[in-house]
Amino acid sequence: MITIRSIAELRERLDDDRRVGRTIGFVPTMGWFHEGHLSLMRRARMTCDVTVVSLFVNPIQFNDQKDLAAYPRDEARDSRMAAGEGVDVLFAPSVDEMYPSGFDTAVAVGGITEILEGASRGAAHFRGVTTVVAKLLNAAQPHVAFFGQKDAQQALVIRSMVRDLAFPVRVEVCPTVREADGLAMSSRNVRLDAADRMRALALHGALREAERLIAAGERETQRVVEAGTAFMREANVPPEYFAVVGANDLAPLDRVVGEVLIAVAAPVGPVRLIDNLLVRAP
Ligand code: AMP
Repeated sequence: MITIRSIAELRERLDDDRRVGRTIGFVPTMGWFHEGHLSLMRRARMTCDVTVVSLFVNPIQFNDQKDLAAYPRDEARDSRMAAGEGVDVLFAPSVDEMYPSGFDTAVAVGGITEILEGASRGAAHFRGVTTVVAKLLNAAQPHVAFFGQKDAQQALVIRSMVRDLAFPVRVEVCPTVREADGLAMSSRNVRLDAADRMRALALHGALREAERLIAAGERETQRVVEAGTAFMREANVPPEYFAVVGANDLAPLDRVVGEVLIAVAAPVGPVRLIDNLLVRAP
C-alpha cells in the first residue's frame, strides 16, 4: 500500500491504472477504522481492481467544533489496518491540500438535506459532506464509490449529487456492521465510557422495537414513532429525532407502506449517535 498526500500525485498514479484498464474502487472515510470501514474496503477489493481509501477528517462538515477536536485520529493505526485489507492506495491529504487558501466553492443538495440530520446539525453539515465528496471523486475518478448504510441519509444525498451533477461513478451502499450486541459500529463509540456504552444500546433497541411493531401489523407511523421514543426515554436516552420515512426519498409518512427507513439520533454522554433500519411492511 502506498500513502499519497497530494491530488496531483493521486491522479498520476490512478491515470496509470485507468490506462491499462484497471477499475478503481473508492472508499471515503474520516479514519479511526472499525469493521464498518473494513467491510467497505473488502467490498471494494471484491468489486474493483484497485482499491483507494481516503482518510480525511473533513473540518467543514462538523457543526460542533468540540466534536471535531475530539474526533479520534491515528493515521499509523489506520494505515496498518488498511494495508491488512489489501488496500492499494491510502489518500491522506492535509486540510491545506483539500482547502487551500482562496477555496470558496460549495456543492449543495436541496430537499433531503433539510430534514433529520440536516435539521439537527444545520445546513453546513451536508454541504460540507457533498463538497468534500465531490472534490474526492474528482481527485480519484473512481468507477465505483462505496458508502455505508449506517449513514443512510448521507448515502441518499451522495446518490442525488452523483445523479444531478452526472458524476461518472457508480455508488454502492453496503450494510451497517454492528457489534455483537447490536450497537452500530462508529468511530465515535470509542469515546463512550462503560455506562454510556450500555445506554447506547437504546438506539438499536428502539429500532428493533419499531420493527417488531410493524411486523405485528402496526401501520400508523405516529404509533411506531411514539413506541420508539418511549423505549428510548425509558432507557434514559431521549432521542433528538426518531422518524419513520420513505426509504428512498425520506418523505414523511402517515402510514407504513412498502419499504421505510426508521432513523434515530441521540446524544449519549459526550457523543451524538445515529442509527437506522430499513423495514419492509409485509
Ligand atoms: P466515516 O469515517 O464515519 O465518515 O465513515 C466512512 C464510511 O464508512 C461512510 O460511508 C460510512 O457510512 C461508513 N460506515 C461507518 N460506520 C459504518 C458501519 N457501522 N457499517 C457500515 N458502514 C459504516
